[in-house]
Amino acid sequence: MIYILSFIIGAAIGSFLNVVIYRLPEGKSVVKNRSSCTKCRAKLKPFDLIPVLSFFLLKGKCRSCKTKISWQYPVVEIVTGLLFVFIAYYYHLSTTVIDAFAIRDAVFVCALLIIFVTDLKKFLIFDVITIPITVFALAVNLYLYSSVTDFWQLLAYLIVAMVVGAGFFYLQYFFSKGKWIGFGDVKMGLMMGAMLSWPKILAALFIAYILGAIYGLIVLALKKKKMQSQVPFGVFLSLATLITLFYGGRIVSWYLSYINL
Ligand SMILES: [Zn+2]
Repeated sequence: MIYILSFIIGAAIGSFLNVVIYRLPEGKSVVKNRSSCTKCRAKLKPFDLIPVLSFFLLKGKCRSCKTKISWQYPVVEIVTGLLFVFIAYYYHLSTTVIDAFAIRDAVFVCALLIIFVTDLKKFLIFDVITIPITVFALAVNLYLYSSVTDFWQLLAYLIVAMVVGAGFFYLQYFFSKGKWIGFGDVKMGLMMGAMLSWPKILAALFIAYILGAIYGLIVLALKKKKMQSQVPFGVFLSLATLITLFYGGRIVSWYLSYINL
């Protein structure tokens, strides 16, 4: 029951994320105006706005002009739904017990999904996502962990993680004069630090580079792109942050036990 509910809530939020993803690069408000077809501007009817289902009921086409609707819409809705199910599973949620950490992670997941898609599609990571989420992550982590850890130690770890995350990308940005990575990645590093704290930020950076390397090898093997073509690094960073958010503790302790041998 909780899984079905989580999926429905996730898919509905995913539908909103699609609106944000579409409107951010256009500089439009995400709350004003009803959604409309991107081609013929026909306003969508309430029946066309059901997450996942509407796409399949409409057979992936606009009701008025029959223009194909991007697969991005149902995919983002399904992925958000599944990630919400995962959060419910991870925190053993029930319809009566909602964990504060689960809500925190739901917000993180949404932000990471938006970054993943906008960076993949437009090579852009938006400040309106990274900056408020950095502030949110810092505040929520300080609040949630202050009952188990000393406040000042907690704050120090978060600041170290943010400096490491942002500094790591800033150095690359500085030395490549913005050629390797954009300044959006620097702010993304800051956000990752606030989300993951120390030392999990290291695990995330490490995983991001492994994912990037795997992608590079696949691209080379398929000879699809030339090496100098732009790589949306925010895609790997958001994936790595997602993995570290749930399994970072295990990855770090595995690594520590490994180097102690
Ligand atoms: Zn249309």
